[in-house]
Amino acid sequence: MMIEKELLDLGRKVELELKPYFESVDLIREKNFLKVLDAFQSVKLHDSDLNYTSGYGYNDIGREKVESIFAKIFGGADAIVRPQIISGTHAISLTLFGLLKPGDLLVYASGAPYETGEGIIGIRDVPGSLKEFGVHYGEFNFRDGFNEDLIRKARVVVFQRSKGYTFTDSISMDELEKAIKVVKTINPNAIVMVDNCYGEFVEEREPGDVGADIVVGSLIKNAGGGIALTGGYIVGNKDLIQRIAARLTAPGVGKEIGPMLGLTRNILQGIFFAPLVVSNALKGAIFASKIFEDAGFEVKPRYFEQRTDIVQAIKFGRVDMLIKFAQTIQSFSPVDSDAEIESAPLPGYGNKIIMAAGTFVQGSSIELSCDAPIVPPYIGYLQGGIYYEHTKYASLLALQEILKISKK
Ligand SMILES: *Cc1c(COP(=O)(O)O)cnc(C)c1O
Repeated sequence: MMIEKELLDLGRKVELELKPYFESVDLIREKNFLKVLDAFQSVKLHDSDLNYTSGYGYNDIGREKVESIFAKIFGGADAIVRPQIISGTHAISLTLFGLLKPGDLLVYASGAPYETGEGIIGIRDVPGSLKEFGVHYGEFNFRDGFNEDLIRKARVVVFQRSKGYTFTDSISMDELEKAIKVVKTINPNAIVMVDNCYGEFVEEREPGDVGADIVVGSLIKNAGGGIALTGGYIVGNKDLIQRIAARLTAPGVGKEIGPMLGLTRNILQGIFFAPLVVSNALKGAIFASKIFEDAGFEVKPRYFEQRTDIVQAIKFGRVDMLIKFAQTIQSFSPVDSDAEIESAPLPGYGNKIIMAAGTFVQGSSIELSCDAPIVPPYIGYLQGGIYYEHTKYASLLALQEILKISKK
């Protein structure tokens, strides 16, 4: 498939070197598989629970079991897991609007939020934002020191686990545990929320296990295992979940309604597959990290570093290389492999973005995908891969094409 022998040989050599790192990924997968299986058995899931509800979706036992399973896995007492939550951004927005009242202060403790968060918060002027609703906002990065004043005044303190479009380290569960303790010492009443997008099943523990009050993510990333067709999850304390459910549907009705429209089986299969799929994505990311570093590019994380999300950042330093990288990933996809992708403005994002996503589920970034804002120093963010082999060969081909540019 267009990959030259020289690169195939390089791939084999690198793979041997990476064996110990792949083994530690396998070990985490094994533990997460057992955790997931245990959650399924603890709710006594039955074949009949997978049936369809429509309309109001009253008494949907399948939905209730899905939510109990997610609550157990992500370390909370209760959960909302619905196909009516469209994306990670929607899950975050819903959670914040559920928890915050006019006059409250929202604080991001891990620095600037993921780009689509700017619209939710009102950092970019968008109709319907929290700012318009009278919610105040502050941010600091706990790695540079905790802003005690903001923490004391905050109603909700957010940690974003995954780096987003920045070239920094994502927040490991050890680091998060310590940071949450600091926040809770300064303000025991603050609600600690974690944006868990891209982090699920990368470590043995999840944010709910290390003190987060509310954990939020998307089903078209890790937690959907590449199978869920849509959806998001919110896991946390019962009273918080109740408030958020009042915003999802209506006050007084809350979690009692919500048809699953036949997606119960799909969502459950997704979470069941997720530890396996995440482990494949991680191996692919480690492989890409190593070959691009060996070729002289700065990468984050490096192949031997501990990971807490599936995102692999590669700094190209040149716009033509970044675009070639994204285009090659696209050309190596099972869907839309012939699409000629270009950078474009995207709803919810400030910068122009180039996205490679030849995926079965639209926008699914647990499937092999890559996105990058078109700004210097031209960093590509690679993630996903249902098969490790998919990410492996796609990155080999991308490296080959980029080396051709650098020889010109
Ligand atoms: C992807 C992502 C989001 C937004 O999720 P969408 O499903 O794309 O809306 C939010 N936060 C982080 C850290 C993400 O990686």
